[in-house]
Amino acid sequence: MSLMKNITITVDVEEDCPPMLTSTRGMEEGLPELLDLFKKEGIRATFFVTGMMAKQYPDLISRIPEEGHELGCHGYTHTRFDRMDKEEARLALKQAGKILRQFERKLVSFRAPNLQFPRDYLGLLEDEGFRYDSSIAAYKPPFPRSRIEGKIIRIPATITSSFVRLPPGFFLPLLKRWESPVIFVHPWEFVDMSNTSIRLDCKFNTGGKALNNIKILIRALKSQHYSFLTLQERANLERHK
Ligand SMILES: [Zn+2]
Repeated sequence: MSLMKNITITVDVEEDCPPMLTSTRGMEEGLPELLDLFKKEGIRATFFVTGMMAKQYPDLISRIPEEGHELGCHGYTHTRFDRMDKEEARLALKQAGKILRQFERKLVSFRAPNLQFPRDYLGLLEDEGFRYDSSIAAYKPPFPRSRIEGKIIRIPATITSSFVRLPPGFFLPLLKRWESPVIFVHPWEFVDMSNTSIRLDCKFNTGGKALNNIKILIRALKSQHYSFLTLQERANLERHK
């Protein structure tokens, strides 16, 4: 399996571009479209969902495991874990886990908001039943690679989310150079955010263009026989290295 070309698509499910906005257009308009696209293309992904979004949108979140995707945890609110003390962090994981396990009993994957998770909190993930963490960014110093720390397998995100909104002619050749890339997107990127006050790199090519770009990307990778792995499937490749 490790010799096959593969990609992991992850979706961080949260309010629109936190902390810049508090609207939830991504939940109402973006996420249903993205789920429909994945269903139509017959591919699977991992959705890291905050406890709050699961509480507010239970019908939408139940589609994730029902349609064969992996449901993972993205904290309780979108508060950064490096701004919480250890007990607050433990409580946030417990609260999120309690809600998300109503949708998926085998909740084992985690990604912290803003990819910020103090290393000495990893034990909390173990305590709360998580086995896989994707809270590190391969594109930021010290450019971490996949690794096993204690009982947790850590798989970095390969590239920042706005890259997926670049024209596929530019992004695809780049993507093919990476081994087992993990890309991530957000529901709000599939809603036209051009009239909001968020940063330019957050709002360019949002809406229909982003949806079309990811469709082209998926089809190109399918035509080249890529496997679409969930985060836990991707992480398990590390055990066999
Ligand atoms: Zn997030």
